[in-house]
Amino acid sequence: CFCKLKGRIDDCSCNVDTVDHFNNMKIFPRIQSLLSNDYFRFYKVNLKRDCPFWTDDSRCAMRYCHVQACQEEDIPPGLKQYNQNSMNSIFGNQDMSLRFYDGNEDCEDPEADHDDELGYINTTISAAAYEEFEKWQAHDALDNFCELGDDKDAQYVDLLLNPERYTGYKGKSAHRIWNSIYKENCFRPENHYDLFIQSAQLNRMCLEKRVFYRVISGMHTSINIHLCSNYLLSDKESLISPGGKWGPNLEEFKRRFSPMTTDNEGPHWLRNLYFLYLLELRALAKAAPYLANEEFYTGSEENDRDVREAVKDLLSVVKSFPSHFDESSMFAGGAQARELKDEFRQHFRNISVIMDCVGCDKCKLWGNLQVQGIGTALKILFSGKFDSLSPPGLQPGQTAKSQFQLQRGEIVTLFNAFGRLSNSINELEKFRNLIRD
Ligand code: FAD
Repeated sequence: CFCKLKGRIDDCSCNVDTVDHFNNMKIFPRIQSLLSNDYFRFYKVNLKRDCPFWTDDSRCAMRYCHVQACQEEDIPPGLKQYNQNSMNSIFGNQDMSLRFYDGNEDCEDPEADHDDELGYINTTISAAAYEEFEKWQAHDALDNFCELGDDKDAQYVDLLLNPERYTGYKGKSAHRIWNSIYKENCFRPENHYDLFIQSAQLNRMCLEKRVFYRVISGMHTSINIHLCSNYLLSDKESLISPGGKWGPNLEEFKRRFSPMTTDNEGPHWLRNLYFLYLLELRALAKAAPYLANEEFYTGSEENDRDVREAVKDLLSVVKSFPSHFDESSMFAGGAQARELKDEFRQHFRNISVIMDCVGCDKCKLWGNLQVQGIGTALKILFSGKFDSLSPPGLQPGQTAKSQFQLQRGEIVTLFNAFGRLSNSINELEKFRNLIRD
């Protein structure tokens, strides 16, 4: 079967089989269960940001592109508080508005005190505090691989209510996004003018540029596996299937990944999924001492304790993986390496902005989340801030947490993005079984 991959994963030192077994047996059940907890299921995102690159694209009118409303009462009180506390800690005790996504209009927290004239942040905040906040943001932003954007219109979305699956988003609009990602924002071999890069040509590029391409291609693979494995098989509604019938579509999977229909590239694209999985796995292992100290605060003492335990358990499994991706061989060297790293970061930031141009809300939601998650993984691997997190690097009395901070959104996207890849690898196994049967 073309999807039974064998041998070593490109630019890594371990085999596909090792990852399959490790993921499907150890990681997948743990991460799926973890992500159903409130801390991870409510993701704050701005789906209304305008596309800065073009304006002539129509929005996807398919009902499956729609992002379903969250229920205000479902948002854990601690998250609402977190929203306020994180800003209060900078601005003092000001009222902040909190928004919930309902697909069209903002469904807002009735308790929140709005002042349209003053806008999101009450203007009684002193200019000095603003300045301080801006400085802090600008400094933090230097390490970011994503444009985190202006949070003022961000809204909470319940990820469990909006599973990543087939939406019908395709054609010109979807291709424009993939084209501008691959053509304008991925590195390319010299004198290469074709739109897509053949895997054999990748060896003409240096490791860092190959890594960048594999990361994007791995994410593309994961998105497409999700739409194949959760495909709209029939839109006829019934009592057993009120929203239509959804499930795996083997023909769609073969069309997208078989060597016969992809000029032999499909299996390479599948391998890039494994590559990205290993990169994110390494980021989790590297940030483990920091994440193990995180509170995962939602306001429910019992639930938060369970989440902390589940995270520690997951991280101990993550750390037990025998051959992690080695990021130390990347960007090694002097000024040239630094320049390449800046370019790498800039390209990735552009891709995070392109996500605002995706013409289907559901795809935009999951595309944003995955790009932000990868951005967090890259920040952990390459910002240098996590390099001394392992216990020998900590000074006496210094906790991992006191060294560096990730925002809640970064933690949520890091785990959820990794959960997507874990799910994709698990779904691949199911497609293999379907083909065998
Ligand atoms: P596409 O997937 O559009 O690919 C375009 C071309 O890229 C292919 O012809 C091939 O040459 C090349 N290619 C394909 N896969 C890879 C790879 N892994 N690596 C390198 N090159 C590759 N649709 C949904 O139904 N649900 C979703 O949730 C969803 N989310 C999306 C999120 C984003 C950010 C984007 C841009 C699109 C999303 N889509 C989603 C659309 C989906 O990815 C496809 O674009 C669409 O189904 C059309 O598929 P296609 O066969 O034309 O090829």
